Amino acid sequence: MKMDIAIKNSWILTLTEGKLGIIKNGSLGIEGENIVYVGPSEGLNHKSADVVIDGRNHLIMPGLVNCHIHTSMQLLRGGAQDLPEIEWMNKGIGPLAKHVTGDDIILGSKLGVLEAIRTGTTTFSEYTRNVENLVKEVYLPFNTRVVATETINEVSQTNKASLKPTDLYEFDTSKGEQALKKNEELFRIFQNEDLVTCLYGPQALDMVSVQTLLQIKDNAIEQNSKIHIHVAQGRRERLQIEGRFGKGESTAKILNSENLLGDFLIAVHCHDTDETERKLMVDKGSKMIGCPSSITMIDGIIPPIYSFSKFGGDVGIGTDQAPGPGNHNLFREMRTISILTKSMVKDPTVFPAWEMLRLATIQGAKVLGLDKKIGTLEVGKKADIITIDLLDSFLTPIVSHPFHTFIPNIVYSATGKEINNVIINGKLVLKNGKFTEIDEESIIKKANLRAKEIYANAAEDWEKADSKMVQDVRDGLL
Ligand SMILES: [Zn+2]
Repeated sequence: MKMDIAIKNSWILTLTEGKLGIIKNGSLGIEGENIVYVGPSEGLNHKSADVVIDGRNHLIMPGLVNCHIHTSMQLLRGGAQDLPEIEWMNKGIGPLAKHVTGDDIILGSKLGVLEAIRTGTTTFSEYTRNVENLVKEVYLPFNTRVVATETINEVSQTNKASLKPTDLYEFDTSKGEQALKKNEELFRIFQNEDLVTCLYGPQALDMVSVQTLLQIKDNAIEQNSKIHIHVAQGRRERLQIEGRFGKGESTAKILNSENLLGDFLIAVHCHDTDETERKLMVDKGSKMIGCPSSITMIDGIIPPIYSFSKFGGDVGIGTDQAPGPGNHNLFREMRTISILTKSMVKDPTVFPAWEMLRLATIQGAKVLGLDKKIGTLEVGKKADIITIDLLDSFLTPIVSHPFHTFIPNIVYSATGKEINNVIINGKLVLKNGKFTEIDEESIIKKANLRAKEIYANAAEDWEKADSKMVQDVRDGLL
């Protein structure tokens, strides 16, 4: 069998058949973009491969799927955290974000994507305005798999800043139409790119009219795509929904009454929903994405991933944005959501390690509609693969009898930096811990230089906003 890459003599997790699919002393063969062999080492003649990777003391598994990520504000990492929820956006990140330019967004995104690849992510569900730029400038040059979502927001810019939370946002239909057009264009622009999938991105029910949402739904169904939307994000959204639709109304109720719940809907966050609404969303086939570190850090709330999963829903995890949760490391997210959920339901048996490994791979792929292509290691699937060095100190000791300690160790102890090879669509992006084409050093250097300038330019605005962080600085705590 002719192959481009063969990895031999390794532990393998295939993640197939609803389990982990543990293979001892296994090999994996890649030809072009696809997996052509997974199984026992003796079944593969690795000599016919152009590149042979010795997988001894390594674990091979599918690349991780980050279902919800905004990399555009990456240069503001460390810029807003430990703040009251009400201050985070306007007093924390806002004054800094005002000084971020288009070039900073690209540079920040490069930084975010490279750290995520380094920690095992191979699929990125990026959600931003002008997502086309990031796909062309970052994701495709970095050879990553990207699910591109264009933000559609109809709130009129003119009066938003001066509004009290109970004042209703005004909608500007032409703004919505323009963004929708841009979103539609993505499908045409990237139709021949195997690494790119497109989704529709109405920002949230408080930021888009029902009429526009219904139009988006028709488009999504017609194009066999899905809607990727923030749902029930807390008090601010609820005040808008009650103001527009009446007391006691909620995002989930309105989405239901307008026939906007279905398998075409991918709902992000959902923390301001109750159990009845969650069950309803699952019954209607809607998918859910939770961002454990981000939502806990910004809102002090544990995302209801367990709830959706308990009702049998398809759930995935994401990292959201770096200012707040810190970074885009899905190993950390697997651990975080497991620990938070154990504490929330006061039961250490919930969200065990094996389930977290499925959540970050095949389950995420399913949520994004990519499970036929990625998420498991099977012949015919795309070769999105990571290898983990089992001799790293964080994974030691590795024992494989009477059970495999690497299963809990990679979820509860690994940092993500134990990954030494990342293959995306059959191409080695990270080889022996080094990027094959990405100039990591130069990106980090540029990011530091530029961030210093942004913070210097924003200093006056930031102090004027007078967030809790400003006081912390005065007190010598930050
Ligand atoms: Zn988001």
